[in-house]
Amino acid sequence: MPFDRHPVAPPQPARLSPRIPLRQLRDPHLHIGPEAGDTDSDTALLLEWAAALKAEQPRVLGYPGSLDFDYAALAPLLSVLANNVGDPASADASAIHAKAYEQAVIDYFAQSAGTDPDAVYGYMTAGGTEGLLFGLATARSALPHAPVYASDQAHYSVGKAARLLGLQLITVASRPDGTMDPDDLGSKLRKQTLLAPRNQPPGVIVLATIGTTMRGAYDDVTVLREAAAMFGAVYVHADAALGGFIAAHAPSLPRWSFRHGADSVSISGHKMIGMPVPCGVVLARWHLVPDASSGEYVQATDRTLGCSRSGLAAVLMWSALRRLGYTGMRTRVLSCLDVARYAADRLAAAGARPSRPTDSVVVCFDRPTPEIVDRWHLACEGDRAHIVTVAHVDRAAVDELCADLSRMQR
Ligand SMILES: *Cc1c(COP(=O)(O)O)cnc(C)c1O
Repeated sequence: MPFDRHPVAPPQPARLSPRIPLRQLRDPHLHIGPEAGDTDSDTALLLEWAAALKAEQPRVLGYPGSLDFDYAALAPLLSVLANNVGDPASADASAIHAKAYEQAVIDYFAQSAGTDPDAVYGYMTAGGTEGLLFGLATARSALPHAPVYASDQAHYSVGKAARLLGLQLITVASRPDGTMDPDDLGSKLRKQTLLAPRNQPPGVIVLATIGTTMRGAYDDVTVLREAAAMFGAVYVHADAALGGFIAAHAPSLPRWSFRHGADSVSISGHKMIGMPVPCGVVLARWHLVPDASSGEYVQATDRTLGCSRSGLAAVLMWSALRRLGYTGMRTRVLSCLDVARYAADRLAAAGARPSRPTDSVVVCFDRPTPEIVDRWHLACEGDRAHIVTVAHVDRAAVDELCADLSRMQR
């Protein structure tokens, strides 16, 4: 037998490979010291890290970021600073911004969210959380004494925003399908009314979740608004971080947007669309947004929560939306829904007891072994796990997951 310096390894018994380890959180190799590091080897290190992330991506099934993008053709954008300071429609003194692109993104999203772009104020945020913080801040200025009502399925950021804004948060029960229970909202409101001074109803801020984090359910903005209306003035913010773009195209026509009674809507840019930088969009009815602050130094009006904002995110989001167009977005959404339906069928066949709200890309099932959770980056809560069939999740990945379930569970 000829000498072989690289013998082929014998086939291994079927086993789950552990996920590629990313770096430990505080890695001595990454320490930034007094002297300059070697740029070439650092670049090699970073490219290796990016390649490892990329290789892992086909198995990231449990989290809502779409990973099917590639903006590498726009790499020269990394050599310019585009800083959007203040309102998108307000020029600023520095004049190095990407606000025209941001405005185009906002107009597109306004139309997707069922409103005339001229009827709303909006800007690109750092993500869904800044959007809901802005929505609740706008709600507080409209109804300064109103508590916020959110369901037990709302994102944990809602609690954070309420604390920051000094708003009382009242948790409303959800129904078995994961949506906020309008009857429980009514009874919580009745209880509050008994506590409030008779002639001063504080009003009601409803935080509706469009695509709940764990189960992917769509709260019904119209029904919740109606349920709250008899208790005073109502403000509804729709936290549509994941579900907004889906709801806008879903065949079952969820009632989620301005058209259905929302006063403000927020969405994440890096979820359904797919972006290398987290970002989002928030919109609010113009007449509800408090007056602008403005700094002499920047010479821009500014209703945003931050100051400097990413022009890069605006340009990349514009490029993604422009490539898709409204029709491409619809195709993308329908294809994600198709994979979700397929996943529910396959998980049922694998005995994993899936559940999936109508037109949702989130599919919950029985929590599998820790190895499977780890390998497929599944998100878990109690005895259930979920996958989110955003655009990089295909039928082949679902098949592989189900094969692992069948092999490992029994
Ligand atoms: C993802 C998500 C958020 C948080 O959005 P970020 O973009 O991560 O800040 C808030 N609410 C819901 C419903 C979400 O799905």
